Amino acid sequence: MAARDGACEALNVVMLGPPGAGKGTQAERLARTRSLPRISTGDILREAVQAGTSIGRVVRATMEAGNLVSDDVMIAIVQARLDRDDARHGFILDGFPRTVVQASALDRMVDGRGPLVVLDIVVPEDVLVRRLATRRICSRCGVNAAPDWTRSCGRCGGELVTRMDDGVDIVRERLAVYERQTKPLVDYYSARPSFRAIDGNQPPDVVTGAIDDAVGAAVKGATL
Ligand code: AMP
Repeated sequence: MAARDGACEALNVVMLGPPGAGKGTQAERLARTRSLPRISTGDILREAVQAGTSIGRVVRATMEAGNLVSDDVMIAIVQARLDRDDARHGFILDGFPRTVVQASALDRMVDGRGPLVVLDIVVPEDVLVRRLATRRICSRCGVNAAPDWTRSCGRCGGELVTRMDDGVDIVRERLAVYERQTKPLVDYYSARPSFRAIDGNQPPDVVTGAIDDAVGAAVKGATL
């Protein structure tokens, strides 16, 4: 379990990895076992688009094209989210940072809040393209559909749909954007003792086990 008293530090986790690597599923599992909030910037933006807020109207076209929303907007969103009370003991970040500018802003945000554990989920590109082409999400609660959910969401009963940015051309653009703008983060973080690479091309439960082990080892490494 994550630390819960003032004497121990929080657990702050960043999930890195390309679209389709399984970050969302694994972040959700880790958040549940560690009783920490999962903060998905993609989910926050999709909710804003659906609700038609001013941010939603600004980011919609960018998301539909598979491009990145501006650093200023993203940093403000995450700063406000991390200031909320439920993130006091830590958080699991899914989809942020995606640029070096965002990563250095995050370093400033977590300064004094305990170690930042960075997990890089590695999956070959052909596997990613295949996974994304068949991915369905729930239109109501946003969860990724499990393979045995054929028509409706097994959690809330909502309709299963393809994500607006999971079309083949957009997927290729998102993977290219990842290579260009987000992959440099591996260099940014990899020398840190709390960085771990995870083989994401394995069954989800095996990946979950590897993540659990890696978080334990990374926390130890970071506090030695
Ligand atoms: P995701 O659900 O994480 O794949 O995010 C979906 C889309 O939201 C991305 O393709 C971007 O357009 C946008 N997005 C999410 N997180 C970020 C971020 N940290 N920086 C810039 N754009 C983001």
